[in-house]
Amino acid sequence: MPRGVKTDVRTYQMYINSEWVDSKSNKTFAVYDPATEEVIAQVPDANTDDVNGAVAAARAAFDDGSWATSTAQERGRVLFRVAEKIRQNAAMLAELESRNTGKPIVEAEFDINDVATCYEYYGGLATKVLGFVNPVPDNAVSLTLKEPIGVAGQIIPWNYPLLMAAWKLAPALAAGCTCILKPAEQTPLTVLEMANWLADVGLPPGVVNIVTGFGETCGAPLVQHPDVNKIAFTGSAAVGKIIVKQAADTVKRVTLELGGKSPNIFFADADFEAAIDGALFGVFINQGEVCSAGSRILVQKSIYKKFVDAMAEKAKKIKLGAPLDRDTKMGPLVSKEQYERVRSYQEVGKKEAKLATGGGRAEKFAKGYYVEPTIFYDLDNSARIAREEIFGPVAAVIPFEDEKDAVKIANDSPYGLAAAVWTRDIFKAFRTVKSLRAGIVWVNHMQPTYVEAPWGGYKQSGFGRELGPWGIEEYLETKQVYINLNEAPIGWY
Ligand code: ADP
Ligand code: MG
Repeated sequence: MPRGVKTDVRTYQMYINSEWVDSKSNKTFAVYDPATEEVIAQVPDANTDDVNGAVAAARAAFDDGSWATSTAQERGRVLFRVAEKIRQNAAMLAELESRNTGKPIVEAEFDINDVATCYEYYGGLATKVLGFVNPVPDNAVSLTLKEPIGVAGQIIPWNYPLLMAAWKLAPALAAGCTCILKPAEQTPLTVLEMANWLADVGLPPGVVNIVTGFGETCGAPLVQHPDVNKIAFTGSAAVGKIIVKQAADTVKRVTLELGGKSPNIFFADADFEAAIDGALFGVFINQGEVCSAGSRILVQKSIYKKFVDAMAEKAKKIKLGAPLDRDTKMGPLVSKEQYERVRSYQEVGKKEAKLATGGGRAEKFAKGYYVEPTIFYDLDNSARIAREEIFGPVAAVIPFEDEKDAVKIANDSPYGLAAAVWTRDIFKAFRTVKSLRAGIVWVNHMQPTYVEAPWGGYKQSGFGRELGPWGIEEYLETKQVYINLNEAPIGWY
């Protein structure tokens, strides 16, 4: 049994200052398997008191501990050892991730590999953070130093639990920050399992602290705490807006990734089979619980009807099933709350558009938060299901006339996380790429994500970038240093 798990009923503790602890109130909350609707664990219900303890530990580790004087090489090696532990325990982590989120095991395995890759990438990048020599017009040396921002509070969502933790922890640790990570209340388990190895890989006490709790009672005190220097958040736009306001009083650095309503644009000249596949994959992968989901499918009028029919026909064949079944392509949604939210949007959609397929719960399952892959068509971009993020397997297929029309509809959204364009015409592809107001644009694909390339949105999809060198930059301050080389007095008097 891993450390931090008290009994067979799997009551977890949380990880603060390298110790496994209960919440100070001794309260716990239940964590579920969304396929069986059964409780699979209890975890500490952390509130302000617990957050204060975690922040104090992180602050002390940053200000005084050995982490503060660690070298980039040492930090890099720690991250490589984290990656190694992830790889050694990949099967266990993937299974737990799949059970807790409902995502298909094959996708969970893919995610866990990405998790390890992320720690490896930032392990390598730790030693490649460079400063500058600034060419000031003086007899002096002017330097730019890069320094860790300090204590980072990190609040993550439930769709890719261990991967979102990696996107936050890996660059922060490479930079030399200390962290308080709050996993989503629905999915804290894999992060807690990972915490078992953090002392063994050489992380000093207080460098990584995991607090489990709810948004308002555990996330908010972290955002407001004066000793926290930065908040990195991935989640809903509604909560992102609250966080910006709450962070204002202490002028915290904030980075936000808030999802979107990403357009997946299909011109008539695109390879038809690849296009249908790309449309389905773009919106139904991970049950549609993806911030970059291609949930607005824009299709050129000349192929629109044929496209909708082909999509619907294929969508009906998507294999819904138990998350741990290797043939499963879609599992249940993560929680009852999310299920109800998606179901309500299915009903909204029926009033705003025509239904090509799906539209309800997947009734062949006696239990579990399964919903049918759902495709709506013949709607306007002003419909609610075309404007609001649903975060489930609900697609809105919208027709467009020509290139100009496609770009106009695509950009007519409060969001701007991702977009994709499908065409065989390289001129049209590049023109469209340049016209789209989105942080990520794919051509003839949708969703591939790599740690080497930046991730983040335009407009209300947030600000700041994760992954690649951009990701570590968000955990660094810039210090300007001026070294005078004139030994004589300034001559001011
Ligand atoms: P969803 O509604 O899909 O659960 P959220 O944006 O609410 O998405 O959740 C993302 C993360 O933000 C979770 O870890 C959640 O606990 C946290 N969170 C929710 N509300 C707040 C808040 N007011 N302050 C800080 N964190 C919050
Ligand atoms: Mg919420």
